[in-house]
Amino acid sequence: MMNDKTLCPLCGEGHLTPRTEETVTEYAGRQGKVTLRFAECDACGSEITDDGDSRANKRAVLAFRKSVDGLLTGAEIRALRDKYNITQDQAARLFGGGPKAFSKYESDDVAHAAAMDTLLRLALRSEDTFWELVALKGMTSEFPARVVAKRHTMDVPVIWLTIRREVVPDMQPAHRFHYSMPADTMNTLRPH
Ligand SMILES: [Zn+2]
Repeated sequence: MMNDKTLCPLCGEGHLTPRTEETVTEYAGRQGKVTLRFAECDACGSEITDDGDSRANKRAVLAFRKSVDGLLTGAEIRALRDKYNITQDQAARLFGGGPKAFSKYESDDVAHAAAMDTLLRLALRSEDTFWELVALKGMTSEFPARVVAKRHTMDVPVIWLTIRREVVPDMQPAHRFHYSMPADTMNTLRPH
């Protein structure tokens, strides 16, 4: 019967049933509800937490503490990685932390530092910031397609502005516009 995980290790007679309980926890002066896992013996009534329960309970408490501290949740950090399609290893090299750092952040095993949180939020808010960081860390070659896509979207508004002004006839005699565009770009835009 050693392999029967549902057998109560305390009385050796009853069986364990998984249960959850909503508990109020307090951190930094704020109260919040977390759902804790345990197992209950139907014979002796003992409440037992195994390793899996303990890990899940620690994560639930840490997730609450992160929210009190104003830190991104594990799910939000995962969403950031998905947004830029980067691996946990690439995230660690971009933002800092050891090889397993983002695995731990995303599963709420570890709370990231406030400085890390600021950096992550900047990257979430601004794609340009993210690509600046990629360049700063010398990782541009790992994202060739993304860099091309970014250049494209950045150039388009400038070109549009130029064309629109040239086709408004009554503005041309009264106004002169000084474009500061690269010479090769101007040549492709000029009418033949
Ligand atoms: Zn028991």
